[in-house]
Amino acid sequence: MTENILTDAERIEWFENNYSEVKEKIALACRESGRDVNDIILLAATKTVPVSVINHAINSGINFIGENRVQELLSKTDALDKTVHKHFIGTLQTNKIKYIINEVEMIESVPSVKAAEEIGRLAVKNGKTMDILLEINIGNEESKSGFLPAEAETAIKEVSKTPGVRIMGLMAIPPICDKKQDICEYFCKMEKMFIDISAKNIDNVSMVYLSMGMSDDYYEAIKCGANIVRVGTALFGRRNYNK
Ligand SMILES: *Cc1c(COP(=O)(O)O)cnc(C)c1O
Repeated sequence: MTENILTDAERIEWFENNYSEVKEKIALACRESGRDVNDIILLAATKTVPVSVINHAINSGINFIGENRVQELLSKTDALDKTVHKHFIGTLQTNKIKYIINEVEMIESVPSVKAAEEIGRLAVKNGKTMDILLEINIGNEESKSGFLPAEAETAIKEVSKTPGVRIMGLMAIPPICDKKQDICEYFCKMEKMFIDISAKNIDNVSMVYLSMGMSDDYYEAIKCGANIVRVGTALFGRRNYNK
């Protein structure tokens, strides 16, 4: 399938052709739902995207990126434009947290109390507090990590007592849905949970960020309250996994 591989130049061209469109669609979703476009963070999901392309995107206005793999994140760090805000959005292995504790501003994909406690322990050791989002397995899927909706509130209360971490919101990757209406139901459930937890005013918990929506559904996610959308393919083209 080599004909499917995009060169760096083609990827930059893709970005040039699609960035404005993504921003316009975000603006439209905001207008239609009475929200301020300045409240939405467009986070570029940059897994497999080469640093030269990411830096080009940063120069064009992208100021948040999310990486999925610890090794890849570390290998990109030196060459990456230092102005960008970095989030970790991938599957989090507890034994690798130590490598990213000083490399990212936020860990969005915290799947368990145990992981949150390890983040807290390492943050304290490094004299800092790490902002985290708790990943909710909103579709109750066996194959996915994250807190089950039914256990989320109890878990949040437990994590909120952990020194070194500050819960800033929720993140979700809903099940793959054929119909937009189905994905919207998951997004709406997330919005409801976000609002309900916020209303409980739990100490050390700030429901500021609701991170959901990817290339195919960021428009719907924003309409359901998302304020971080994680967009990869729509900005950079198809990923080359075999590189
Ligand atoms: C890859 C990835 C995205 C972006 O996916 P696209 O469909 O390419 O926009 C968003 N969130 C997470 C957690 C990802 O791993």
